[in-house]
Amino acid sequence: MITIQNNDGGRRVLLLDSPFALDESPDFPEYLFDVIFIANESAEETKTILNHINPVTSSKCCYKPLFVASSLNGKLGNYDEIVDGYADDWNNMDVMTKIEDLISYRTKIGLTTQEDPILSSNQFFIRLTRYLISRKKTELVPKLDVSASTGYVIPVFDVFYRLGHYELSEYFVFVQSMVEKGMFRSTKFVHKVHLCPSCLHSHILYVHTCPKCGQSSIQTEEVIHHFRCDNVSPEHTYSFGGQLRCPKCHQMLRHIGVDYDRPTTIHTCNTCGNTFIEPKVKTICTSCQKMHDADELIPQDISIYEITAEGRSSIISPNIGFSIYTEFYDNYIEYNRFVNRIRLLAEQKFSGNIKGDVLVGKMWILNEKGETMPIRPEFIELACLYFPNNKVSAANNITYIGTIIRNYTGDTEEGIINFQVMLSETIRAALTTIEPGERICYTYMKLQGNQSTIEDFVKEMNFISQSPDDCVDYDPTIKKK
Ligand SMILES: [Zn+2]
Ligand SMILES: [Zn+2]
Ligand SMILES: [Zn+2]
Repeated sequence: MITIQNNDGGRRVLLLDSPFALDESPDFPEYLFDVIFIANESAEETKTILNHINPVTSSKCCYKPLFVASSLNGKLGNYDEIVDGYADDWNNMDVMTKIEDLISYRTKIGLTTQEDPILSSNQFFIRLTRYLISRKKTELVPKLDVSASTGYVIPVFDVFYRLGHYELSEYFVFVQSMVEKGMFRSTKFVHKVHLCPSCLHSHILYVHTCPKCGQSSIQTEEVIHHFRCDNVSPEHTYSFGGQLRCPKCHQMLRHIGVDYDRPTTIHTCNTCGNTFIEPKVKTICTSCQKMHDADELIPQDISIYEITAEGRSSIISPNIGFSIYTEFYDNYIEYNRFVNRIRLLAEQKFSGNIKGDVLVGKMWILNEKGETMPIRPEFIELACLYFPNNKVSAANNITYIGTIIRNYTGDTEEGIINFQVMLSETIRAALTTIEPGERICYTYMKLQGNQSTIEDFVKEMNFISQSPDDCVDYDPTIKKK
């Protein structure tokens, strides 16, 4: 059952009791409802519904007040973080007051309820922080959670991590970048923890191993120092019919501290017989099962963060997406750096240091008059995602991909075809980002000639081609954003 009903305050309540593909359904457009009510008494089913219908990741529900059945109070675990209240009657005074408070605060800070589908973890993080700001939850407090990836997690983030909205490395980069930009501020240091360098999970076992052969079957015993003759050897060498007798001077040992002491312990490897004082500590990650030396673990500061006042206004601003993608994609670089890199590759190629072809892919959007359109952040994000191993840049209303197809035999044909295929796929994926009347084109340039043609090549990068290799037109059947 899914319906829309008015409450006594004149707000339109979307009422549903089972999972529903709301974002994909044409029947319930975003502008038809102000509030969501999930009327299901099962905590598990409600969580399943919330995986899609929630005020963070659903394009139609974002930032809207959301209520669930009162019997679920205390039963939703971390999902509690994305619920505004527990109620069975949407005309209850407290519920109506809460709805009005949330809507008026959201209006005051200027958050609109229509958002694009989330294409990247970066967009997800912005969406979640906007949601937290809309709920005045600007303090991010990590909690210990035995079932969570990094041991310490911010519960509302963890809900979405488990749904696959981001990778741990992306999360750490996001937080660090927000701190550097002054949008987040650490208000309290909690702990420095150590994470698996392969997968960044925290659940690690420590294993003592032999420094010589690396095996962990080790015997440990104490070492005895006999004062009289200065003999130092493992305890078993003193064993004599249940008593201790010095293997060197054959005197019986009686009083610890008077005629002998135990200065240290010694380890003996059962595999190779090596004896040693300090075993080597290795770690096994219970998540990815990889072994590492203890000193390879990644130290990570766990802190309480608050979203600063500057952060709150920047994050709410519609331009945020554009200003931060450069920080979130390792492969995006500024255009002058991109050009320098191409020059460098070109010089290397012509001097014979690298064998292969230097290619630059160019993608651009034209409007119905055939004019190029300004670069859109979501388009660049797509390019970064589709070409994770290439440098991506943007300028002159063109998005660029730089690559070198290496081949020592000189046969680069297959690599070039793959590059073209990827460019074709990217412009098709980008159809969700364009408006009626627009088209997306690509072409690619292959560096040829000799040293003297490098500058011509670089100049030509500034221009679009009148005969692109491939174009796709706006398609009304492809859902826009
Ligand atoms: Zn002795
Ligand atoms: Zn050994
Ligand atoms: Zn791991």
